[in-house]
Amino acid sequence: MNVEETVVIVGAGQAGGEVATSLRQQGYEGRVVLVGDEAHPPYQRPPLSKGFLLGKVQLAQLYLKPEATYERFNIALKLGTRVTAVEREAREVVLHDGSRLAYDKLVLATGGRARMLELPGVDPYKLGNLFYLRSIPDVEGMRSHFVAGKHLVLIGAGYVGLEVAAAAVQLGVQVTVIDVAPRVLSRVTGPEVSGFIEGVHRDRGVTFRMPATVKGVTLDEAGEAVREVVVEQDGVEERIAADVVLVGIGLVPNTELAEAAGLAVDDGIVVDALAQTSDPRVLAVGDCANQPSAYAGRRIRLESVPNAMEHARVAAATVLGKAAPTPAVPWFWSEQYGMRLQLVGLSTGYDRCVVRGSMENRAFSAFYLADGHLIAADVVGRPADFVAAKKLVAAKAVLDPAALADENVALATLG
Ligand code: FAD
Repeated sequence: MNVEETVVIVGAGQAGGEVATSLRQQGYEGRVVLVGDEAHPPYQRPPLSKGFLLGKVQLAQLYLKPEATYERFNIALKLGTRVTAVEREAREVVLHDGSRLAYDKLVLATGGRARMLELPGVDPYKLGNLFYLRSIPDVEGMRSHFVAGKHLVLIGAGYVGLEVAAAAVQLGVQVTVIDVAPRVLSRVTGPEVSGFIEGVHRDRGVTFRMPATVKGVTLDEAGEAVREVVVEQDGVEERIAADVVLVGIGLVPNTELAEAAGLAVDDGIVVDALAQTSDPRVLAVGDCANQPSAYAGRRIRLESVPNAMEHARVAAATVLGKAAPTPAVPWFWSEQYGMRLQLVGLSTGYDRCVVRGSMENRAFSAFYLADGHLIAADVVGRPADFVAAKKLVAAKAVLDPAALADENVALATLG
């Protein structure tokens, strides 16, 4: 290997940080430059909507590695630095101050940004009580609004929204959740589990308006804060008073750099099984990448920590000339009211859901079958089930629904 070579990584998030350290761990001896536009070294986002919002996790605990580790690994960490262009012919990236960095290999790990809610006639940047949640400053901005007795209107019943709902309830905040979908987590889980999760929130006093459409907001006299959120449900318009509003309606992948550089983009930067874009000198990983999935039998773009980590290691191996695609099955976790929900596989297309354990006792697993094959599982409070389910889903095991439901039959013996 040429020690004069340089790998530039754009985006110092979960995936970018892992590419950098993984390159060193896998024996890369060239220069590694990790460029990120945030002020913080790579950090974990999951606690942002959980322990960090609650004040139980401190800032330094979010960091994936102490800053000194990057120095020790001889990784040049350039924080607060935005890459504005990729010039593939020159093999250079342009930084916001106009300076340039040359690369031999470039890894795009640019993640995504919160999808904005369209509010005609309203400048969301002027509103002091409407928030999105993607970064440390986002949480720092909203924390002081989460005061007992205040009313939070949450737009979006996905993971981020529900986790914030749980944190808010624990802080004594009243919560109303609005979504256009008829049930919570509708994109990722079946109606049985959605119903269970919604029940857990209702038990804690959360109110749901679903399916309902946000028609707009009313503002205070200065036009600087939302006073009410206007929703339409069953053809009836209602104004819900709000002290604070959080919008969690999904993520837009940051693909603009790749697109402007002429790389293939289709719901994410298109990469092959080795994380290479349409230009083999340029790789892309994590939330911003659209990758082939042997498990799904199609291209997918995943938004999860396990994917960011596994994909980063694939990219590092590719840079080192070791072809090591992972046959990874997607998995994810969420935490609400201290209850851990673990998901493996993608349940889209299932034709049967089998439940093992007890939803009432908050210890159950929901197994999703398609043509008799196990394609996904959602597990609450049964970690051993999750370990077994990961293997069974990876094998797309053909399983007897009666045995799956029967707690006397050990899961590990199935498949
Ligand atoms: P990111 O972590 O978003 O990093 C991308 C980085 O690139 C950012 O720092 C961005 O600012 C930077 N960047 C972008 N463009 C440029 C540029 N031009 N120049 C320089 N820098 C740039 N996943 C789970 O598995 N479990 C969970 O419980 C969970 N909870 C979550 C809770 C919240 C509130 C959020 C926001 C996410 C959560 N996720 C969870 C998802 C997980 O955090 C992401 O999938 C993961 O962070 C993706 O890593 P990434 O490196 O691809 O992107």
